[in-house]
Amino acid sequence: MHEEISRKNVDSNNLNSEESQIDSQVNSRAFENLLQQYYSAWFRFHPEAAVHVGVSGYEELLTPFSDEDIGALISLHQKIIFSLDEFPVSELSANQKLDFSILYNAASIELHELIECDWRTRMPQKYLPLEAIHQLVSRPVKNLHKALKHRLQSVPEHLRSAKSYLMQQPEKVPENWVTDAINGASSGVVYFRELLNNPKIIHEFKKPLRLQVVINDAVHALEEYEKFLRNTLQPLAKGGFACGESHFNTLLNNGHCLDVEMQQLHGFGEALFNQTQTELEALCKRLPGSDDVEEQLANIRHQHPLEKDDQLMNAYRNRMKAAYDFVLEKGLVSLPQTQSLKVVETPVFMRHEIPFAAYDEPCIQDPDQKGYYYVTPVRSEGHLLEHNWTSIDLTCVHEAFPGHHLQFVTANKNLNNSLPRLLNPSATFYEGWALYCEDMMQEQGFLNQPEHYFIMLRDRLWRALRVMLDVELHTQNLSIDKAAQRMCDALGFSIDQAKADLSWYSRSPTVPMSYATGWALIKALRENESKKADFNLKNFHDRLLSVGSCALPLVIKFEFGESAWIEAKNKVFGEPC
Ligand SMILES: [Zn+2]
Repeated sequence: MHEEISRKNVDSNNLNSEESQIDSQVNSRAFENLLQQYYSAWFRFHPEAAVHVGVSGYEELLTPFSDEDIGALISLHQKIIFSLDEFPVSELSANQKLDFSILYNAASIELHELIECDWRTRMPQKYLPLEAIHQLVSRPVKNLHKALKHRLQSVPEHLRSAKSYLMQQPEKVPENWVTDAINGASSGVVYFRELLNNPKIIHEFKKPLRLQVVINDAVHALEEYEKFLRNTLQPLAKGGFACGESHFNTLLNNGHCLDVEMQQLHGFGEALFNQTQTELEALCKRLPGSDDVEEQLANIRHQHPLEKDDQLMNAYRNRMKAAYDFVLEKGLVSLPQTQSLKVVETPVFMRHEIPFAAYDEPCIQDPDQKGYYYVTPVRSEGHLLEHNWTSIDLTCVHEAFPGHHLQFVTANKNLNNSLPRLLNPSATFYEGWALYCEDMMQEQGFLNQPEHYFIMLRDRLWRALRVMLDVELHTQNLSIDKAAQRMCDALGFSIDQAKADLSWYSRSPTVPMSYATGWALIKALRENESKKADFNLKNFHDRLLSVGSCALPLVIKFEFGESAWIEAKNKVFGEPC
């Protein structure tokens, strides 16, 4: 009897487990279908994002923004959130659960932003179709001819409609956002005029001059838009840029999955700022020359390559190669087999946003995984000081190896990659990693001069100040002018340099805080992990990069476990009361 009951139990257990396996396969497929349906609709409203992640079918479109379009997008978000709320998430695989969280958070944030703070009436820069054109000539794109022609043809109507939305409540548009858009539009005019000289167009178009008419129309439309911004909108624009406490918290908690209070975050920035300042002053006393931070900085800055004969560009190329060789030789992290990094001049329309240099990652479909490192042509002697030898070394580590380029290419070749991960990179992860790399390459001996340490500490001071300013600008009514003064006092920035940096903070709440926060969390995680008997540095780095570019807390929880996250978080932000 006893045996009979047990057998029945065994049989029914087997049956249950088979049933649940079938259930989980069904749910897994249902989730993939849901993703596919959602994104094929979502890309229609975000065609540039589609090109960026290599999904074809949207290359001919500019971002639509009519009331009908925005209504449809809102309804799409409401539907996906409803479907996700109903979905049996516990049945999904670990990778799918991660994608589920990312999608849920991203959809909730976008829905909230569309309903609560309609970008169409406040953000003149968002209408500029410059990246929409540039991405076609810098990324692998199907039907380039048709795509380029259609997008350019749509520019005049696109910018005409933009004006009517911006005039709905012109007093609510922040003035510095209008200034940014004016600068963007005028450099866009230069970019469009030079478009026919673009190597890809010369190479792929048999009769590029046929584009001339649509380019002329697009140039004219941009010129008109610039005039409108300058003469009509700017005198009326008096709006505030702060996103407010509630949205800032949402971005922290859902966008970056960082479950900390704003006060804790601000306290972390302040403590790091004070500690870094003390370290920097102590280092100055040990360095030969002056014990004044600004004088030391001036000495370092005056050692730089010249711009002539490609010396500056070659300096970056050579030091990037040296950083790559060092990482390979020391076996610090796995290097992707297929990748390349091209050092080129910053495209004209980006120069007002990239005063010195920046990195642009390859899209997942690019078979060569070619990233770009943009160096903005030097405009003055003072500008060249930013490209001093010490900063070039740090930049090559931060932007290239083992920083951004290595990290993004590794994420692109990830077999578990998915649209939610590719479309929702978080600066807590990719900027945190890049700053951590500066530290690590110093510890490993690549950045081996005291000047490297000096510049790194000074940059850390800047990133710590960013944490405080990010919180204060968006939740405590700090003005751009007062924030700029604090940057000038603490970092010796010029007012223009400070304001350019701050204008970006005003448009991107919670991104500025991500640099130092991500760096500190990765450092804390490593300190804890390194206590384990089987700790291996290369393995630690590979695990960290194995998940994708999504929010750092998610990466840590997924790969190292919930308790590793709690420990790292408590180490950085303090134990909860
Ligand atoms: Zn960076």
